[in-house]
Amino acid sequence: MNKTITIAHGNGGAENHELISKIFYRHFHNEILEKSEDAALIEDGRLAFTTDSFTVSPLFFPGGDIGKLAVCGTCNDLAMMGAKPRYLTCSVIIEEGFATSELEKIVRSMQKELEINGAKIVSGDTKVVPRGSVDKLFINTTGIGEIAKPGISAHNLQEGMAIIVSRDVGAHGATIFAAREGIALESTLETDCTSLYPEVKALIDADVEIAAMRDATRGGVAAVLNEWASASEVCIEIEEEKIPVQEQVRGICELLGFEAVSLANEGTFVLAVAEEEASNALDIMKRHHENAEIIGTVTMEHPQKVLLNSSWGTKRFLDLPSGELLPRIC
Ligand code: MG
Repeated sequence: MNKTITIAHGNGGAENHELISKIFYRHFHNEILEKSEDAALIEDGRLAFTTDSFTVSPLFFPGGDIGKLAVCGTCNDLAMMGAKPRYLTCSVIIEEGFATSELEKIVRSMQKELEINGAKIVSGDTKVVPRGSVDKLFINTTGIGEIAKPGISAHNLQEGMAIIVSRDVGAHGATIFAAREGIALESTLETDCTSLYPEVKALIDADVEIAAMRDATRGGVAAVLNEWASASEVCIEIEEEKIPVQEQVRGICELLGFEAVSLANEGTFVLAVAEEEASNALDIMKRHHENAEIIGTVTMEHPQKVLLNSSWGTKRFLDLPSGELLPRIC
């Protein structure tokens, strides 16, 4: 381990995993934490419990703001475990001098998103720190959800299952990068940030037998697939040309030298279902976003690895993202 924490330790990829396992898991170890699911299952699996802190810069960006992100992020992690988001806490750390009108705008967008989830903020904390001690505003939300569909887990993947992505990938990371760099794109590009519970509810109501579900936040789809491959000890084979990517996101990726599959999303998820469930699941998902697509299958070709098959017939491993990806995207 490094002697000091680097930006890469927060990337949602390899260094982030190393930090978590070598420091936090080592000291906090218990069987609930070590499951490494999107949310912890507590009270005999009746409740899902999760937390997330938000440090995004800039605070306002096309399609959202830090408030929307703070509710979506936590509620989505609950939804990914098959839970209905119920109660959240909201803790804020505010820099002296921050405009109250901006704070109110952010809180208003949190409330709007809570209503979409049918959840409420029931507790909170407010800290104000001297100018320069924090950059404008950081928010932490913690949430509890009621399990509506038990049994969803990163450990459930089996040979033959289909892998579906809920829409085009990388929009959030690309949007934040463009907003931050002041890239004057004559573009309609905006964050994918959205509450996923309504779509998850539609899948549950249609009796789709969901094996695994995970929102592709930091580290993107590449991180989710690698986490699943290692948790379930399977190989995930992805058809590269099937991965939906917007043209504008592709352009920004070329600029950055990143792959869209490694860019962060805030309202895009990956689903694993049995092959015979895939077309039903895809139909439902396409009603929420037309770009939903079946992108691959689970095999035993190279257990614990993700294989990317190109349209020219070449194969390469898609690794857990590493290095300094974009910091402060969430
Ligand atoms: Mg998640």
